[in-house]
Amino acid sequence: MIQETLSQKINHIADLIRQTQHTVAFTGAGISTESGIPDFRSPDSGLWRNVDPMTVASIFGFKRDPKAFYDWVAPLTRTTINAAPNPSHIALAEMEQRGHLDGIITQNIDMLHTRAGSKTVFELHGHMREATCINCFKVYDGKPILEKFLEDSKVPTCETCNGVLKPNVILFGEQLPVREFQGAQDAARKCDLMIIIGSSLEVEPAGELPRLAYRTGAKLVIVNLEPTSADKLAEVVIHARAAEILPAIVRQLETN
Ligand code: NAD
Repeated sequence: MIQETLSQKINHIADLIRQTQHTVAFTGAGISTESGIPDFRSPDSGLWRNVDPMTVASIFGFKRDPKAFYDWVAPLTRTTINAAPNPSHIALAEMEQRGHLDGIITQNIDMLHTRAGSKTVFELHGHMREATCINCFKVYDGKPILEKFLEDSKVPTCETCNGVLKPNVILFGEQLPVREFQGAQDAARKCDLMIIIGSSLEVEPAGELPRLAYRTGAKLVIVNLEPTSADKLAEVVIHARAAEILPAIVRQLETN
């Protein structure tokens, strides 16, 4: 196999985008690290250090000890509330606007794709836009609830029934939102090119979607700092920073 240089790979990706009809992006926490939000599995992110995910970040753990969940997620919440989209989120929004991208399937809860202006976004793991009472299911605007917790460290509760409020993020042990997941599956089946950015692909069932796209005929492109289990399936693999590569792809698409 001929080894391509980085600029040849970028040209190759731009050519694939031009040649195909339906390109979809699949993103994970790595696309947002350059907005200051740590991912989960990079060696130095530290989010899982000293915690058992099933204890602190599962729905069972949340119901047993919501304070432990809120305390653990507080630093991530603080950075997420203050974060801004980086050049990779903006590049994807531009690609959609110019008709190069059908939409984005994301595992991220940080809302940076919609804040960058992307319109079709399947948020598989929910978002922090809202919080819901786990007792009466009343829905609240997420930001003031989270900001108040960051201020007073008290577990937010429902003004109607005093039940605990849970941000609308999907914890281990919870089902993915059905409509979002079905929409994402349809997009994965329909696309003929999927660009995977900043995901270890280790979280199921989301991590299965690139393989679904591949099985149903799509070509895969991977932009990720570290190797992933899908690299061997991909037409082009770039191990580099997303915020460097995605704007370069957009610039290349603009050249002719
Ligand atoms: P992950 O942490 O398992 O993997 C992130 C991948 O991104 C790693 O392979 C890493 O090498 C790569 N990466 C890091 N910085 C990068 C950069 N600048 N450019 C390109 N690649 C980069 O992330 P995942 O696969 O999304 O799974 C983590 C789970 O945690 C998801 O379910 C997600 O919901 C959740 N999570 C979300 C956020 C967020 O919303 N921003 C942050 C942390 C975790």
